[in-house]
Amino acid sequence: MVYALRRPILWAADQPQIKKALLSTPLSRKVVSRFVAGERVSDAVDAVRRLRADGIHAAIDHLGEDVTTEYQALAGQQANLELIQALDDAGLAEGAEVTLKLSALGQGLGRSGVALARTQAGAIADEASRNGVLVSVDMEDHTTVDATLQTVESMRQGTPSVGVALQAMLRRTAEDLPRMAAAGGRVRLVKGAYDEPESVAYSGGREVDRAYARGLGRLFAGDGYPMVATHDPALISLALRLADEHRRTPDEFEFQMLYGIRSDEQKRLAAAGYRVRAYVPYGVDWYGYFTRRLAERPANLAFFLRSLVPG
Ligand code: FAD
Repeated sequence: MVYALRRPILWAADQPQIKKALLSTPLSRKVVSRFVAGERVSDAVDAVRRLRADGIHAAIDHLGEDVTTEYQALAGQQANLELIQALDDAGLAEGAEVTLKLSALGQGLGRSGVALARTQAGAIADEASRNGVLVSVDMEDHTTVDATLQTVESMRQGTPSVGVALQAMLRRTAEDLPRMAAAGGRVRLVKGAYDEPESVAYSGGREVDRAYARGLGRLFAGDGYPMVATHDPALISLALRLADEHRRTPDEFEFQMLYGIRSDEQKRLAAAGYRVRAYVPYGVDWYGYFTRRLAERPANLAFFLRSLVPG
């Protein structure tokens, strides 16, 4: 059901006329703020502080993707440096994570884009590690995977703790995972949020779930640090069983969920002594992130459509 709806929703959200109509609609703050911490860096810091009070760490994402000019890409780097500074000023740097989308740092800008994104991401990782902040790199659509993995490998030469997201829905992940999880590599395993062709991805929900379970098995058995990024109760239970089987203590893996989704489960796991990290997006460029959340879950779409009805 969810997978059947994902493609049309992502397609519709990408149509210029629909995008324009939605962006010009005065969305109720409540709807967007369920998934997005706010538009300003101070909103992100406030969210990190609230999560910390519940024993939950944060991975903070300055929203932005597919920039079209070098100026925007440089602004993306600047925003992340400001975020690191703001976390440090608030005394929240230690244990926090900044998570980067390379397309927001210029990866897609023609021939020189990959090098530009790599330089910028490296500079962010240097500044983060000086302040005790972790860095991870998000995974975007399948055409970007090679460049993203190479960038992560180059960042790890300076900062070995740089993490990376791998998508269970991509067939190639079976081969990428052992390489990226070698020698303590931090790997965030996700199902995958993009609409991918069947030539490169599993298309059914069950197939993706099975691929995720296989990926988890390899991660927990290997040398890497598993970051179990899912809201799926069956996969969370599997991760707990695998941790037990491979005698991993609660500081040898972590659960990750999105801001505003299954918050009670995040608190429950943290209270039980597990390391939990919430992915906290903020910034004015929330459209792409928001529509992927709608595509994942029809209930989110219904919630959103209700908010458009006046009264
Ligand atoms: P789903 O199949 O969507 O949901 C499984 C089950 O979880 C549902 O049946 C339900 O029981 C429960 N559930 C889900 N949502 C809710 C809800 N709102 N309320 C209550 N129960 C719910 N994708 C990328 O492509 N690249 C990335 O870099 C990336 N980073 C991510 C980082 C984090 C921390 C997380 C959590 C996700 C990330 N994603 C990323 C998104 C991911 O790929 C999935 O699209 C998203 O997590 C939904 O998949 P799921 O594993 O939660 O399973």
